[in-house]
Amino acid sequence: MLSPKTIRNLSYNKGQTFTERVMNKQDILQRFLFAELGVRGEWVKLGDSWQAARQHQQGGGFIQQLLGQALAAVTMLSATIKFNGAMILQAQGDGPIRTLVAQATHDRKIRGLVRSQSPVETGALIDLFGEAGRLVLTIDAGNGEPYQGIVPLEGENLANALETYFLQSEQLKTRLWLFADQNHAAGLLLQELPAQKHFQADWERIELLASTITRKELLELDCEQVLHRLFHEEKIRLFDPEPIAFQCACSRMRIERTLRAMGRKELEDILLEQTQIEVVCEFCGAHYGFDKVDVEAMLAHDGLSPSSTTRH
Ligand SMILES: [Zn+2]
Repeated sequence: MLSPKTIRNLSYNKGQTFTERVMNKQDILQRFLFAELGVRGEWVKLGDSWQAARQHQQGGGFIQQLLGQALAAVTMLSATIKFNGAMILQAQGDGPIRTLVAQATHDRKIRGLVRSQSPVETGALIDLFGEAGRLVLTIDAGNGEPYQGIVPLEGENLANALETYFLQSEQLKTRLWLFADQNHAAGLLLQELPAQKHFQADWERIELLASTITRKELLELDCEQVLHRLFHEEKIRLFDPEPIAFQCACSRMRIERTLRAMGRKELEDILLEQTQIEVVCEFCGAHYGFDKVDVEAMLAHDGLSPSSTTRH
């Protein structure tokens, strides 16, 4: 149940303008660069966008925190490359958590989902996703085959698994710190710049400094405070903050495409048992209903004639 305080906070947040959000330093991504060292970094903090993303997701605090970490991660990773479309981070396996999906588009719109089959409150990745756990990173630019990289889900946490991914798939040294609680999801990323000459000692120094960040600091401080706390003796170029928002890409048209792929027979079978085909978006909870007339119109669009005469 919402306490009056929570309701007040929610309505206040909804009315915020972008300037106010920047001042509150949430739903923001900031990139920074150690130009002389060949190392780049990113900081992200999700507030309202995190609340919206987790609203329709199941699972207890721990499972939801994992989703928050994945969203912070995919937001930062999507900003390391230039592309048009969506980057999708997916963890799947045969353990208590079946699927974890976090998605970020090139224009910083995020959404995610998590599906668990039994409650878990702690554990390394193998305890959560099982032996068959896989981490899949997809870049879907909407033009032909999406780029996809897959690695086993190994390590203590999602940050470890992603660090392994970048070392194995991209040969890039990468470090990530990911945290989430019920209010915020936050992340810090360091990555060596591809094809830029740099020194191992510089990377190690920056990495060591960054390793002293705590969960509390990353969830509470803003970008400038974090950078000052960690790297106040280093030369850093900080880029403009980029706003992040929750936005689901679902639409009636996309659902229709999925339904059409199921075929007339299956759709008609469902409509024998219920008056409407109900589809609920797993990301945002939006409901889509299709009755007999809708289905007929949808299939007529494909040039498929009614099959009632040929049915057994
Ligand atoms: Zn949706």
